[in-house]
Amino acid sequence: MEIDLAGYDGVIVSPGVPLNRHPIAAHARAAGVPVIGDIELFAQARSELPAHKVVGITGTNGKSTTTALIHHILKTAGVPTLMGGNIGLPILSRDPLPEGGVYVLELSSYQIDLTFSLDCDVAVLTNITPDHLDRYDGLEGYAASKARLFAMQSPDHVALVDFQAEADHAVLDMAPDGLGCLFLDDVPVEGQENWPALQGPHNRQNAACAIATCRILGLEDDAIEQGLRTYPGLPHRMERVAEKDGVLFVNDSKATNATATAPALAAYPLIHWILGGRPKTDDLDDCAPHFDHVVAGYTIGEAGPMFARILKDAGKTVTESGTLRQAVRDAAAAAKPGEVVMLSPACASFDQFTDYEARGEAFRAAVEAL
Ligand code: ADP
Repeated sequence: MEIDLAGYDGVIVSPGVPLNRHPIAAHARAAGVPVIGDIELFAQARSELPAHKVVGITGTNGKSTTTALIHHILKTAGVPTLMGGNIGLPILSRDPLPEGGVYVLELSSYQIDLTFSLDCDVAVLTNITPDHLDRYDGLEGYAASKARLFAMQSPDHVALVDFQAEADHAVLDMAPDGLGCLFLDDVPVEGQENWPALQGPHNRQNAACAIATCRILGLEDDAIEQGLRTYPGLPHRMERVAEKDGVLFVNDSKATNATATAPALAAYPLIHWILGGRPKTDDLDDCAPHFDHVVAGYTIGEAGPMFARILKDAGKTVTESGTLRQAVRDAAAAAKPGEVVMLSPACASFDQFTDYEARGEAFRAAVEAL
């Protein structure tokens, strides 16, 4: 069905709609009607909200953790706050915050593509590595999408950016002259050992994002520390689901690419690693530096044969389990006390599951059924 778009102010689409292929993009362009998303509607409504600030977070990995962490620190410090966007909570479904509130928005590149006037007080970029390349014109197209978050800021606001991402992709090139810029790598992070849900090198970076953002928002260091200590973590991100006969079972289903899996492998010394699904790259190069932590691999899904070959070539023991349930059985049978069985698939889930949450729940169920 096709409708005449003449006279419409905009077409509102879900970020899941692939605008590079979907006919709505050309149809709207021909009618001169903008294609926007819910974050843009929020941006346009901001002038009618009580005085507030907006923090926008993007990046290939670490968005949800950083978003939830900033939200938690603000809440712990008594600042009215809401989180929304990609983290799964539609911002327009919530009541507006009272004066002085902070909206913390997780923004995927798809959401940024549908947003044109969101001027974040603090905009954060955690990192850029290859992902979602089915929807972008190469890595540069993907990086350019993220760069637009800074292009939308006004000069008196602040960009908080991973140094490598700026070095590789010049993400600040489109930003307005005079925009405050801070590299994440320059943020001192001390006391990580006291933050139980923020272990691993990747969480050090996520903590740096949160510390710098909360300082810019005016929080005292004591209040920030309190939030870091009490942050509970998110499900499916290095989540400890059970300990059985001295073996720890960890659900890292959210690690949907090799870059996300690398820090999970770094976090434990003896891992029975369940991996595979729908691959996003044809290598495991990002994980290879941590192969010495892998006791054995258990492959599942479409990427199974390819990953099995890579691990065998690296001298690892591999079981081609095929399904997640079988992989949990195989790994549990082999694991010794003190070792870890971890699902950190380095792949999308869609070949065998509806999404990464369903995959993580299936892992939990398989562990419970042992
Ligand atoms: P996102 O919302 O961007 O997908 P999450 O915070 O949900 O990010 O984390 C997804 C996975 O990415 C985690 O399981 C973890 O292994 C990995 N990860 C988290 N933070 C980072 C980071 N800063 N750099 C690299 N990998 C990370």
